[in-house]
Amino acid sequence: MLRFLTHKKNILIVFCLISNFNIWAKPISSDKQEIIKPLKIAVLYIATGRYINFWNEFYESSEKLFLEKHPKDYFVFTDQENFKYQKNTNVHPIHQKQLGWPYDTLLRFKMFLRIEERLKQYDYIFFFNANAKIIMPVGKEILPEGNLNLVVSVYPTYFEKDKASFPYERNSESTSYIAMNEGNKYYVQGGVNGGKSKHYLRLIKTCFENVNADLKNHIIATVHDESHINKYIQNRNDVIFLKPFYMFPEEQSVNDYNFKNPMPVKILIRDKNNPKYGGYSHLRGSQKKSLLDKIKCFIYKKFKFFFIDTLGLCHLESNKNCIPVLNLDDEKLFPKE
Ligand code: UDP
Repeated sequence: MLRFLTHKKNILIVFCLISNFNIWAKPISSDKQEIIKPLKIAVLYIATGRYINFWNEFYESSEKLFLEKHPKDYFVFTDQENFKYQKNTNVHPIHQKQLGWPYDTLLRFKMFLRIEERLKQYDYIFFFNANAKIIMPVGKEILPEGNLNLVVSVYPTYFEKDKASFPYERNSESTSYIAMNEGNKYYVQGGVNGGKSKHYLRLIKTCFENVNADLKNHIIATVHDESHINKYIQNRNDVIFLKPFYMFPEEQSVNDYNFKNPMPVKILIRDKNNPKYGGYSHLRGSQKKSLLDKIKCFIYKKFKFFFIDTLGLCHLESNKNCIPVLNLDDEKLFPKE
């Protein structure tokens, strides 16, 4: 009996010890809080010319709703000397000359490489078109983790559509060429994308090399940078495809589409044609062509391919627009940081 009691006492002591240990192992407070390690986020933003008009709304909305638990640094590529919030400690103006359409968007990869060394210090890098406005919280679902490295957003018009209808570059001489029966399940928009720093920097470098190779052949891809991004992600299995609600045109409604599982819009693309913003050509400053460029294009229209092939002074957009050649080695256009 005595032996049994001693045994029972031992069990009791062990139980008390375990339960006591458990008291210390458990959090004291019952309202558990997820501990989030802040990540370093770089946001790339181009606003040359009148596109700066979109900046205030973008910055204010991003500070409030984009990865709100993480500090963000904004790299603003602009030719504007004065703009709101430029003195904020997380806003870094990078002086960038306006290059003219479509270079302001096509040569984004070249612009970003100007600050390559600074970008290496971040965990993630994201790019947003100037006219983006975040209207609902965007959280960690946008962060590629583990085997995933990049994030892109699907274009609403081509969501749940056959890939033969995608506006891929179909000129087989372009580095962004995708054949009719090839491509991904989704066509993505150029207006928002990002990824782990190392992988996004790789994307920037490759896309720039491809744009550059095309320009040397006087080719400008159909949808500029967007064609090159679509080519870069072709057949990759390390990409998050965000549904089109992550970049949705403000002039459209989700109900205009027959989506299987519609969701509320998280990021709006402001309508550039809204009189408030002045329309595409007003924003892009297309009236700014220099006299020399106007002469080049005039002669090009007269002599067509001879002017491109022999004199090599112009590029030809797929819509047959004549784009005067730009010297990409010009330090004044792309000074290294
Ligand atoms: N952009 C710019 N200045 C210009 C033209 C374009 O800063 O004169 C930048 C801006 O960030 C813009 C992006 O390039 O959001 C893409 O241009 P846009 O939105 O006009 O092209 P879309 O997305 O309609 O093809």
